[in-house]
Amino acid sequence: MANLIFKYSAMNGGKTLNILQTAYSYEENNFKVVIIKSRKDTKGKNSILSRNGMSREVDIFLKDNESLLTPKNYKIYYTAKIILVDEVELLNEAQIKELWTIAHLINIPVICYGLKSNFKGDIFGAGISQIFAIADIVEEIGSSSVCLCGKKAIFNARKINDKFTDEGEIVVIDGSNKSVLYVPLCSDCYLKYVKIGSKEAKKLGYLVEKIK
Ligand SMILES: [Zn+2]
Repeated sequence: MANLIFKYSAMNGGKTLNILQTAYSYEENNFKVVIIKSRKDTKGKNSILSRNGMSREVDIFLKDNESLLTPKNYKIYYTAKIILVDEVELLNEAQIKELWTIAHLINIPVICYGLKSNFKGDIFGAGISQIFAIADIVEEIGSSSVCLCGKKAIFNARKINDKFTDEGEIVVIDGSNKSVLYVPLCSDCYLKYVKIGSKEAKKLGYLVEKIK
């Protein structure tokens, strides 16, 4: 049977471009591709957009609590050679389990692309915990997400009005609010720019002074 694969990177790591390239390669050989994204991702509405300006309409624009196993959705993907999921961190636990079921029961490979951590540096949510638990293959996408210092980025730091913060709602889509921006950072820079400026920094005590 097919596999459920999770490919992750920090933001700006080329995930959407990877989806578009994969879709193109399959379609070039006349295979059907189905792309899924959550409606929580309001950027680009029912299309996925890569940073180099490429875009493509998705086949399933999934509602928050919508099942992928309904006859309506099954009709869309049952003849597909591959299913690609963008921003998988926005799917819930049940939807991840359904993707696993599709791979192993219907025998369609499912490749999910997304972030493993949120702007606070914690696991993104229940959907990502679930995919780490049941994915057949988990892999990092190269090292294309680069920190301000040039090292590989691990964290997705949030800036509000140009200031780094680790407070607020977990899901705030950049572009939905002009004051929100995400910056991929390496661990050292995340500690320096986000954690040391945070309320939590007090716990680090004299070490903070040392790092400064
Ligand atoms: Zn850095």
